[in-house]
Amino acid sequence: AKSYGRNTYSFFTKKMNVIIQRRLVIEEQMRDALERNEFELFYQPQFDAKNKHIIGAEALLRWHNPVLGNVTPDEFIPIAENTGLIVPIGKFVISQALHFLNTWQSTCKRQQKYTMAVNLSPRQFRDVGLLSFIQNSLSEANVNPESLELEITEGVLMSCHTNVVDILTEITALGIYLSMDDFGTGYSSLSYLREYPFNVLKIDRSFIDGIVLNNEDCNLVKAIIAMSHSLGLTVVAEGVETKEQHTLLNELGCDFMQGFYFSKPIPAEQFLDFSMNFDKK
Ligand code: C2E
Ligand code: CA
Ligand code: CA
Ligand code: CA
Repeated sequence: AKSYGRNTYSFFTKKMNVIIQRRLVIEEQMRDALERNEFELFYQPQFDAKNKHIIGAEALLRWHNPVLGNVTPDEFIPIAENTGLIVPIGKFVISQALHFLNTWQSTCKRQQKYTMAVNLSPRQFRDVGLLSFIQNSLSEANVNPESLELEITEGVLMSCHTNVVDILTEITALGIYLSMDDFGTGYSSLSYLREYPFNVLKIDRSFIDGIVLNNEDCNLVKAIIAMSHSLGLTVVAEGVETKEQHTLLNELGCDFMQGFYFSKPIPAEQFLDFSMNFDKK
């Protein structure tokens, strides 16, 4: 039993070392990744399911590194948060996404302009220059504030470092849309909806997964949609993967949808092709 214990101990130590080691390499590689131009934005279209129009896109960050290969955002974003590197990386995301939006909007033949959703992390709210950076980026890219949507999760609202309410109020006063991401996965989403000036609610994929097979999930999503509409919020369903989910969400009155059923997140060039071909139909 003793030797078993020792082996388990060394097994965990080895495993821990591997995890720590990888983390250190990620940190080290991330420091110069912006300068080396290793980040790229992919775009995932959002659809108005009723009239079958593309109404906007979400910008999702990708990192291609020569040492590590492709690192997923679920792995590198938390590390970027901890090191503070998310601040310069986040600025790159905002400015890049807005420039692309300008290009994309110029291809649009409809009256209604495309929107661009950008994810913001808690750490970015501790940067006093956040708001002015967003404003400058909007005017540099020649994009209206109403075309930008900022997605935040509960994590932003729980961080007590800055007066987040003030910043969010200023953001919405500029005409920028505010979206609650991953709705339903946290603890206090409902009270946050009351306290903060949200315009859009994104129902988390974990609820959408089961709606066709599971009656409870379906009723829950139905209730979230009804509640959102009574609060004047637009509803986006995340992670729509099947035709059946799409049809059901349409019946439930969901406003917009996003997911692999329509398209995965794709590079800028490919996205423009996709969008222009889709609009021709
Ligand atoms: P998120 O904001 O909830 O983004 C949605 C994630 O779900 C994306 O993963 C997207 O590729 C994935 N997804 C979309 N449709 C489907 C579907 O039908 N099925 C499945 N299984 N997945 C789907 P991704 O791109 O790997 O990003 C993961 C997370 O990383 C994001 O979750 C977001 O929290 C974070 N992230 C990504 N880009 C940025 C960024 O630029 N800034 C910040 N702060 N966070 C980012
Ligand atoms: Ca998001
Ligand atoms: Ca989400
Ligand atoms: Ca998420």
